[in-house]
Amino acid sequence: MQISTLTETLTDFIHTSPLNRVPDLADLQLFDSPLLGVAGADDELFPQLRQPSVISENYMLPSDWLPTAKSIIAFFLPFTAQVRISNRQQGLPSIEWLYGRIEGQTFVVAVGNLLVDLLKQSGYEAVFPTVDPRLKIVERRSNWSERHTAFIAGLGTISLNRSLITKAGAAGRLGSVITNLDLPATKRNYHQFDENCSHCGVCIKRCPAGAISTDGKDHAICDAFLETTRQQFVPRYGCGKCQTAVPCEQGIPKKRGATAS
Ligand code: SF4
Ligand code: SF4
Repeated sequence: MQISTLTETLTDFIHTSPLNRVPDLADLQLFDSPLLGVAGADDELFPQLRQPSVISENYMLPSDWLPTAKSIIAFFLPFTAQVRISNRQQGLPSIEWLYGRIEGQTFVVAVGNLLVDLLKQSGYEAVFPTVDPRLKIVERRSNWSERHTAFIAGLGTISLNRSLITKAGAAGRLGSVITNLDLPATKRNYHQFDENCSHCGVCIKRCPAGAISTDGKDHAICDAFLETTRQQFVPRYGCGKCQTAVPCEQGIPKKRGATAS
């Protein structure tokens, strides 16, 4: 089984599954075609995530989730233009974005489960940490990180506001599956953890909570703001102003001082 085959199957699923549509919003499609990347389970960056300054000593390596692990398949689902554009106004989150955040996460789970099924049907083992009972968050630190996995799998780099900036932008959702299928690792076309972020500072001005500064994002302030949206928009919540109407919304922004080619 090759990564191209998995990409084709997931792309077809994204464009045909009713789970990727919202009947309440005129059949709005939440996600566009996915990006997939592969990390080797033995990549030397994984053990570094155990440093408390990166994630946490509770972080579980791929081989902790699956002792026979060979590869990690990371996927990024970019929001459709309709979802992204709807959230470009300042202030409250758009209804489309709220569905993308909540129903969208249900779809991320469906995509991960589909990957697991495809791998198992071909005789491989597979674990999807998102739905694994061993997944834990202790003091805001999870023992698995979709963003760091996607970084190692060549999908993109972390940004000032701690999103992942892929070649399809930052507005979207991430997931990953660990398997003993031995796939070639995707080349990382970057050297720095935040290389795709231009540090333009637009997301600082976009944030309604003041959670972002030139030093990064204050997760506690962001979480507190998301809680206020939860009370306002039961049963949904969300914000995403730092991922919309910003230069990294749908692609890698030009670096400051760079000229158009
Ligand atoms: S808006 Fe600018 S500073 Fe903020 S994450 Fe995007 S590129 Fe980086
Ligand atoms: S999600 Fe909203 S509150 Fe949180 S950092 Fe982004 S813009 Fe600020």
